[in-house]
Amino acid sequence: MSCSLLYEGKAKIIYATADPEIVLVDFKDDATAFNALKRGSINGKGAINCQISEKLFQYLQQCGITTHLIDCPTLKQMRVRKVKILPLEVVVRNIAAGSLCQQTGLPLGEILPQPLVEFYYKNDALGDPLLTHDRLLLLKLATPDQIDRLIALALQCDRYLSEFFSNCNLTLVDFKLEFGIDSSGQLLLADEISPDTCRLWDNLEADLKNRVMDKDRFRQDLGKVENAYQQVLERVLAQFNAMNS
Ligand code: UDP
Repeated sequence: MSCSLLYEGKAKIIYATADPEIVLVDFKDDATAFNALKRGSINGKGAINCQISEKLFQYLQQCGITTHLIDCPTLKQMRVRKVKILPLEVVVRNIAAGSLCQQTGLPLGEILPQPLVEFYYKNDALGDPLLTHDRLLLLKLATPDQIDRLIALALQCDRYLSEFFSNCNLTLVDFKLEFGIDSSGQLLLADEISPDTCRLWDNLEADLKNRVMDKDRFRQDLGKVENAYQQVLERVLAQFNAMNS
C-alpha cells in the first residue's frame, strides 16, 4: 500500500492510499491547547481517540448520519473517505463552559435553555474567531443551504450523542464537529469525536475538578489526563457493545 504523507496537523497525520477516494488518518499522542500556545503529549491518546471516534461514528451512522469513516486497520489508524474539509468548527453547547463563559459572563455549568450551535472560522492565524451567519456568507465559507444543513446535522448529533454519553454516565457539555465534502459533492461528518473535541463531565463524581473527563484536564493542568481518556474509552466501548450485542 502506498502511504505518502498528505498533511500533518496538530493531532493527526493524513496519508494517501492506493485508492484516491480513501485516506488514512493516523492519530497522534500530541496535544495542544490555546491555539497551540500550550503543547504536550498524552500517553496513548492517539489510540484512545481513534477507538472512541470509530465507535461514535459507527453509532451515528446507525442513527442515519453519514460520516467519513470506513474502518480502522489498527487501533490508532482510521481509513476514511477523502473529503475537502470545510474551514469551520461547528460547536454545539448544552451547558455553559469554556469560551462561552469567558465571552458572555454566563456562569460555568449553567444549563442552556436549548442547545446553542456556533460556527468558528478554522484559521490559526486569526485565532479561530466566532463567526456570524452573515460573516459565513460574506467569506463564502458555506452556502445558505449548507448552513441550514450543518445546523440540523449538528443538533441531531447533539441529541444522539447526549443520549449515548448519558448511558455512559457522562454529561455532554459541549463539542466540536467538522464536516467535509466528498468527490460526489456529499456533505459528510468528518474529523473526530473524542475527549479532545468534547467536554464530558462524569455523572458519578460531584467534585468540580474530578468530574472533568476531557481535554480540560490538560488545558487546566488537572492531572490524570490519561486515566480520564481511558475511562471514557472503556465506557464508550461498554455502551457500544451493549447496544450492538
Ligand atoms: N473545541 C475543539 N477544537 C477547537 C476549539 C474548541 O475541539 O479548536 C471544542 C472544545 O473541546 C469544547 C468545544 O469545542 O468541547 C467548545 O470549545 P470552546 O469554544 O469553549 O473553546 P475552549 O474553551 O476550548 O478554548
